[in-house]
This record gives sequence, C-alpha cells and structure tokens, in this order.
Amino acid sequence: MIAVVGGTLIDGTGRRQAEPVNVVIDGDRVAGVGPAAAMPVPPGATVIDARGRFLTPGLVDMHVHVYTPDKWHPELFLAAGVTTVLDLGGQLHDVAAYRRVIESGARPGPRILFTGPMLEEGDPYPGFAGFCRRFDAERTEAEVDALADAGVDGIKLYVTVRPETARRACARAHARGLPVFMHQHATSGVEAALAGVDSVEHVNVFGQLAPAGFHLAEPAKLSPFEYGGWLWRWLDALDPRSDAVRRLYDGLIKAGTALDPTLVLYAARPGAIGDDVGDTSMDDPERTRLLPRLPAPVAKDLVERWAERRRAALDASERAKHRMRRAWDNILTLVGGFQRAGGIVLAGTDCPNVAIVSGFSLHRELELLVRAGLSPMEAIVAATRRPAERLGKQDVFGTIAPGRAADLLVLTADPLADIRNIRRIERVMARGVVFEPGTLLAGLSR
Ligand SMILES: [Zn+2]
Repeated sequence: MIAVVGGTLIDGTGRRQAEPVNVVIDGDRVAGVGPAAAMPVPPGATVIDARGRFLTPGLVDMHVHVYTPDKWHPELFLAAGVTTVLDLGGQLHDVAAYRRVIESGARPGPRILFTGPMLEEGDPYPGFAGFCRRFDAERTEAEVDALADAGVDGIKLYVTVRPETARRACARAHARGLPVFMHQHATSGVEAALAGVDSVEHVNVFGQLAPAGFHLAEPAKLSPFEYGGWLWRWLDALDPRSDAVRRLYDGLIKAGTALDPTLVLYAARPGAIGDDVGDTSMDDPERTRLLPRLPAPVAKDLVERWAERRRAALDASERAKHRMRRAWDNILTLVGGFQRAGGIVLAGTDCPNVAIVSGFSLHRELELLVRAGLSPMEAIVAATRRPAERLGKQDVFGTIAPGRAADLLVLTADPLADIRNIRRIERVMARGVVFEPGTLLAGLSR
C-alpha cells in the first residue's frame, strides 16, 4: 500500500478540497481519500509526503497518434504527467501492439485508448492515407461493427465523411457503446452535432462559417500543410461574437457535442513569426530547458521542424502577419466563448504533429485554454474528468476517488494559481506505480 499524505487535493471534479488530505493506494487503485483524521495511514504503507504539495489526477491527452515507432515516446508522456492518451487514428495492429507493451509492464507509459484507423468515405488526402481506412457508405454499420469487435474505444470519422454517413456511423457506434470523434470537413459545423458526433476535433467545426468563396470542396487534392492553412485564409475575418457563432455553439451544446480544439497545433503558426505563444516558441526558456532533456532524435526533429516553419514565415508580409494574429485571436475567442456558453471543452494536442512534443505539449494546451478564457480549474477538468466522461470511463480514471485507477500527480506549486505550475511535477503515479520525471527523462537521454 502507498499513502500520499497531507497534499492539497484538486480531484478532477472541479472542486478543490479546503483541508489537506491523505490518499491511500492499494495496488493499482485508490482505496480511500480523506482528511488525515478520517483516513489514517495504514500500517506498513509506503508514505509519500505531499505536505505543501498539490495533487491532481493524471492528465489525459484526448488527441494523439502513436502510429510510428520513431515517434512513439511513452516515457515522455509519463514524465509530463500524462497517464492516459486517446489515439485518434492509427492502424489497429500498431496501436494494439503499443498497448500490449505498456500493459505488460515492459515499458513505462500511459494507458492507451484508440479508435483504430480514421474512416474515410472518399479519397483520403495523401499525407494521411497510411492511417485511414476508406469504406463504402453502404457498409457503414459493418465497418463500425468490425472495429467494435476488434476492441476499439471509439470511432474516428475523417474529412470526407458526409452527414448521412456520419449519422449512421454514430447510431451504430452508440449502439455498441462507443463514442464518435470527428475531424470535420464534408460534414460541416452543426451537422456533426445533429449526426450524433460526441467530439469535434480541432477547430474545423467553425469551417461552417467560412465566407462564400472560401469553401473547400476537395481536401484530398491538397497536402496536409496546405489543408492546415485553409482555416487561416478566412478566420481573421470572422466575428467570433456574431449570431452565427452563437447559433453554432447552441447546436453543439444542445446535442452535448464536445470541442477538442488542439490549440497547440494552431499556435505553431503565430509562434513561427515570433509571437508570444509561450513554449511553442523555441525562444521560450521552458522549452529550451526541456530540449537537452529530450531524446536526441526528438530534440533534433523539433529544432528542424521549427527552422522549417520559421523559414516559411520569413517572407510573410506585415499584412499577412496581422491577419494571422487576428485569426489566432479569433480561434482563442471562439474556444473561450464556447466554454462560457456552457460547452464541453476537451484537452488534446494532435501529437506528434509538427513541433508537438509527447506529453509536454499538453501543458501548453492547458495554458492556451486558459488564455482562451477557461479558468485553470476548467482547464484541468478538460484534461481529467471531461475526457473520462466522454470515453465512458468515468468510473476508471479522470478523478481521484475510491475505486478509480491510482493515476495522480504530485505538484510542487499550485496549478490553480497559475496553470503553468502543471509543469512542476515531482512525482507521477500511473496505475499505482510511482515515477519521477527526471529519472524517466534521464533514462532516455543520449
Ligand atoms: Zn489528429
């Protein structure tokens, strides 16, 4: 048994415990939580002194891809306090193999949930064909059943899936107890909510509001980079407080559809022109401090991708930069407005997309969610309880309570006072096993 003693509890529900608590761990589960008087340390338990420390649930990254061995760094996730990841697009045999390795204890890492391949009913766009599966709309139910039978934790619908197909996929997935995640394009805006989609990924849901002339019929003809640039061509002109935006929020909220905006993905563009987007910028001390601690190939890739981005941004005119900043401000305002309107926001990163680091970029995502207007508490809930609920796993992880998995972080500073304190991780407990971030990282450096 382990007793984490005397910490201030931020348990993931959205509440902060007024008096210090003891958390008792038995095996891989939380056995009890309560004030010291009510929750004495069991005889023989290993004691972790958490006095003056802050406890949160292990974090969940709701949007990752663990598809290639050279970009799969389970230890980095753990070192950053990410104890659960949701893979939203990868081939089943790969992700299932990664999960088996973690579950066997052969390699430390986060719990992996996955959807298997992203389902496409039209041509997948070439950059991502390797982790898509193209299907015939007539076989929608059979495709969902095959994935459900293979043990997926959700279904991922991708850009070419049309509204009626999305509706059929959602109906079948829900009948099989599975949530549906969608990167929207052919199904635009509130159509996804009406189809029953549980979470819309990135900020493509706002694509519905693109002005005439900016609609994009065939994403398959573009490269991933060009496709990523589409939103930036018109988002600067959007009024994030308009009635059209309000109606879109209402449609999502009425259907209970969550938004997983992956802000860190968008921050790369303003970051590349030197704007203050925190450690997404290579100049930021937090990130430069992290660099030498990362495995050499990861650090090298990061530096190269950033140099690439910066070179691409070098020629941008002042006018173009101004438009980019407006678009970025609008993205933040749209996300904050959704939360304020009563929407469900989830924290995800799209790791290992360009310059996104396993685990550590989720800290950045939380900081950006706070910039967007969430409170630090709401940002923490977006990375703990909300993801668990969305996945139907609220009895398994996402909060610190008796019976839940023993996934928790011991922080040396208060994340509610400053969300950046979520980086000040002293210890990570993942299913009852205790890790120190420094030791995990030291084991990787070469
Ligand atoms: Zn993705």
